[in-house]
Amino acid sequence: MWQVVGHEWAVELLERSRANGRVAHAYLLIGLPQIGKTTLALNFAQALHCLGEDKPCGQCRSCLKIAHGNHPDVRVIEAVNGTIKIDQIRSMQREVALSPHEGRWKVYVIRQMERATTEAANCLLKTLEEPPAQVILMLTASDIDQLLPTIISRCQVLNLRPPSVLLVQKVLEGRWGVDPERAKLLARLSGGRLGWAVRASEDEAILRKRERRLDEMMELMGQGRVERLRYAQHLSQSPDGLREVLDLWLIWWRDLLLIKGGSSTEITNIDREATLRSQAQGYNLAQVRDFVEALRTAVWQLEHNANTRLTLEVLMLSLPVP
Ligand SMILES: [Zn+2]
Repeated sequence: MWQVVGHEWAVELLERSRANGRVAHAYLLIGLPQIGKTTLALNFAQALHCLGEDKPCGQCRSCLKIAHGNHPDVRVIEAVNGTIKIDQIRSMQREVALSPHEGRWKVYVIRQMERATTEAANCLLKTLEEPPAQVILMLTASDIDQLLPTIISRCQVLNLRPPSVLLVQKVLEGRWGVDPERAKLLARLSGGRLGWAVRASEDEAILRKRERRLDEMMELMGQGRVERLRYAQHLSQSPDGLREVLDLWLIWWRDLLLIKGGSSTEITNIDREATLRSQAQGYNLAQVRDFVEALRTAVWQLEHNANTRLTLEVLMLSLPVP
């Protein structure tokens, strides 16, 4: 049985290609982080190598080896210190020339392909252009715009959407034993990124960090220019956490917009509904809408290499006062 949650059409497509013996040499799985792209790729590798009846059985020697990351014909290549380097691709290419050890296929899962250096991506092109008969490449990426068109055009592209929040909630309760109230909150906060929800259910620190960041935002709403500029500087110095903070703010302000518009049943921050409601009363609709827009603009600018500190300063100063 496939372990992947959601993505039924993609499972069906891969399953059919396997059953008909028409497997492509390269697939590109596109979708938000932590929605199950690598799980899907590894499940497919299991289905291809499975020795059981109902492939992938998840129980046989091959399936177990793949699950534990020690199958000699299935490898996962991922960024080291932030990038996938040409040496990693070259070493893969030396391996692909050899026949599989145990099965018919050699499967290479290359995660977060957008992190490959230009040299590494160009080097991979050689394998994509003339793939050895036994090789299957499963590339994953969250942003197709960052990949070379020549890479994209040589892959079968599968665009994956996050599974529904309700499905994530059910799986958290059923498969991971998370209690219903918490599962509901985590599912909403995850926006369908099951991988994130599972991690957050196991690691208290993730939700605590969210609490702290929301508290910082609340505090800032009542503060003046000096504190706001200081916070902008502080944020600009932690590029790793920056996107998370902006996403958190965006979700919060979208919640305010939903309450203003009378659709409060769809809000994400259900554990802070009372605060959201009282805040919503302090702003008019235009203020909330403008700030959501300002947040989106800032995210877009930062993705397009705008000056981080300057962008954040403008954003912080436009945070409306209730
Ligand atoms: Zn199996």
